[in-house]
Amino acid sequence: MHNQEIHIPAIEKASVRVFIKREDRIHPFVSGNKFRKLKYNLLEAQKLEQDTLLTFGGAFSNHIAATAYAGFEKGLKTIGVIRGEELESSVSKNPTLLFAREHGMEFKFISRADYRKKDTSAYINILKEEFGTFYLIPEGGTNTLAVKGCEEILTQDDARFDYICTAVGTGGTISGLINCSQLRQQVLGFPALKGDFLKSEIHKFAHKDNWKLIADYHFGGYAKINRDLINFINLFKGQTDISLDPVYTGKMMFGIVDLIQKGYFDENTSILAVHTGGLQGIAGMNQYLKQKNLPLIK
Ligand SMILES: *Cc1c(COP(=O)(O)O)cnc(C)c1O
Repeated sequence: MHNQEIHIPAIEKASVRVFIKREDRIHPFVSGNKFRKLKYNLLEAQKLEQDTLLTFGGAFSNHIAATAYAGFEKGLKTIGVIRGEELESSVSKNPTLLFAREHGMEFKFISRADYRKKDTSAYINILKEEFGTFYLIPEGGTNTLAVKGCEEILTQDDARFDYICTAVGTGGTISGLINCSQLRQQVLGFPALKGDFLKSEIHKFAHKDNWKLIADYHFGGYAKINRDLINFINLFKGQTDISLDPVYTGKMMFGIVDLIQKGYFDENTSILAVHTGGLQGIAGMNQYLKQKNLPLIK
């Protein structure tokens, strides 16, 4: 996908250059990186002659939306195992689940306690008894084949950047970026959640050490947001016409601009920030913000 230079006062004042890789443009509704992560998994499912994909996710999961859409496109059945039994009665009010259902996904809603067991072979056997055989894709879509898909995000032209930045959830996307980066480049990950498990996850998949996690911009945890973040996302949209999602890319971009203002990067540094998509999540977040009387995301 093409890179777009960002011209906003905070960046130009610091004499650094920031470009955004528009992976959000891969599909109008489905997250860019989730498409990358599914690519080789879909080929593998077809090779194994599996006609059903089964995966896991929460109420507003980009990965659930992407899997549903990919299955719809490829003529595969999709089953989404969703965290939270209470959601069963409110699918029609949830934009993510509604989109997934409209694209053919069948749901199984489970309790949070069961959800914690989802990676055990005992629980997977229960699912097999219920649904028959399926091709299993883990929560968030991260596995070796997903990382391989994310190794296609950077192009030869991108070798000119000093820094590659991405939001981090499960660590699959950053691992692919590390693997396709140049050794002289630094890959910076901005985790969208708290937790020390991420580093070891990335070590499992990444073949180089030219990376670092910047853990200061998770805003209290996964899907937690505040007025500062909302205002930033809306200001950024006004200045650049680029939408950011509140869970991942908004936090990353907030972090990059904050680091620039604090002098983290030398003058003349060039930074490539990957816009991993996630825009389908804005509608669900706005429902929540409305309830809380907070400003909405534009
Ligand atoms: C899932 C997701 C991420 C995180 O990707 P991981 O591979 O899980 O680290 C980042 N941005 C968006 C928009 C996502 O949907």
